[in-house]
Amino acid sequence: MSQLSILFVTSEMAPWVKTGGLGDVSAALPAALHKAGHDVRVLIPNYPALQAAFPQARLAAQLPALAPGLPPARLLSAETAGLPLLLLDCPELYGNAGNPYLDDHGHDRQDNPIRFGLLSRIAALLGQAHSPIDWQANVVHVNDWQSAMAPVYLHFEGGSASVVTVHNIAFMGCFGHEYLASLGLPQHAWRFDGVEFHGQLSFLKAGLQFATRISTVSPTYAREIQDEHFGYGLAPLMRHRESALRGILNGIDTEIWNPSTDPELVSHYAANRLAAKRKNKSALQEEMGLEVADDVTLFGVISRLTHQKGLDLLLTIQDGMAALPMQLAVLGSGERDLEAGFSALAKRYPGKIAVKLGFDEALAHRIEAGADCFLMPSRFEPCGLNQMYSLRYGTPPIVRATGGLADTVVDVSEETLANMTANGFVLRDDTPHAMWLAMERVCRSRPDKRQWLRIQQNGMRRDFSWKQAAHDYISLYRDAISARELER
Ligand code: ADP
Repeated sequence: MSQLSILFVTSEMAPWVKTGGLGDVSAALPAALHKAGHDVRVLIPNYPALQAAFPQARLAAQLPALAPGLPPARLLSAETAGLPLLLLDCPELYGNAGNPYLDDHGHDRQDNPIRFGLLSRIAALLGQAHSPIDWQANVVHVNDWQSAMAPVYLHFEGGSASVVTVHNIAFMGCFGHEYLASLGLPQHAWRFDGVEFHGQLSFLKAGLQFATRISTVSPTYAREIQDEHFGYGLAPLMRHRESALRGILNGIDTEIWNPSTDPELVSHYAANRLAAKRKNKSALQEEMGLEVADDVTLFGVISRLTHQKGLDLLLTIQDGMAALPMQLAVLGSGERDLEAGFSALAKRYPGKIAVKLGFDEALAHRIEAGADCFLMPSRFEPCGLNQMYSLRYGTPPIVRATGGLADTVVDVSEETLANMTANGFVLRDDTPHAMWLAMERVCRSRPDKRQWLRIQQNGMRRDFSWKQAAHDYISLYRDAISARELER
């Protein structure tokens, strides 16, 4: 099969800049495509963290101002483990440290439409005949609203095939009409079947309208976003583009998330050596100020604290949790009232419930290894990584049946135990009581050591590597390239 030239465009990439799942995907998927023998290059803004990581980046091109509102910039080239990076350098737009989207007060950065308009514009340029470097992509793969305008330029100006991946349809990148001109787009693009969305310019909607192919990060989420409840107003467009839409489940980085080598753990273990997991539990209990005991069930949470993640359910069943032989270790940050709620919960039950507010990658590994069961009752979850990390760490998760959670977690039942697929617990309905019932079910199940071991091993033995996903993306790219050729 012929080699593809793929431009992977992203606004975050682990380990340098990461606010969520997209950061992890951007590190893993291009690496897997590169390993599969394709010529893939990653385009990302040259944030301070990248400047620090790649001080020897070389100038690849000077980029003139390409639209009235877009400043001139430079493309720098660097490499990570053999994978070429293209760093979009424009200090006036990307020079601030911290969160890539928010300012120090937690507000959207004012110049986001320009910052990510420029990223999209340059991405498109690299898929066009007048690419500023000695390379042209035959497919431009953009991710979320931050790069979703690239397919729009490619549509109106010509150029390569494009693929847009929706990691979370709730973030649409909506801005005023005036940006149409600043970004150098034609006025006739302002249509309901163009870039306009309820009187605004929506980057994501525009990308979904014009990309050659669309993907989301799980098959269930690809179905859900065609439904008003999950589609945030984009459901009719998603239904309209159904034949161009695919669901491809993310993989995980199985080297970074490997309980038999993870440097953050006090004790390494594997599916056939699960007894060694216990030491991680006592170490975690000690670290988080919980009573050190093995007979209580330790539930873990690692999450953004937002409405999406459904963790408010836990705050409504405090008395119920108090009555269970359980402990809870929470690592998260996000909305102020949820942070306050969890802090108060920890104060109310010292030794039983511990909460750490903040982002702490190392502790996240220790919670995955130390907890008995992971809680992820998301209201919606495009793919979700933490439930896959949990499965791999022998820490069966409790989840709602939505998105990628539904595609990865198989509820324990007589049938699924018999066919060796049972690997976690799925909420039976959407109420706080269902959450409590699931936690109670786990506390009751765990003492049956043989059955619990089987549930853990079923999860640990499933293949969550990027190999399958990379293969599916390659066929999606080929499909997009053929479709684009037919358009010409
Ligand atoms: P989302 O992208 O919606 O936040 P995912 O489960 O897909 O949810 O990905 C979340 C990623 O961010 C995971 O790698 C998870 O471990 C990490 N994460 C989230 N919150 C924290 C935190 N407070 N500390 C450390 N890692 C976190």
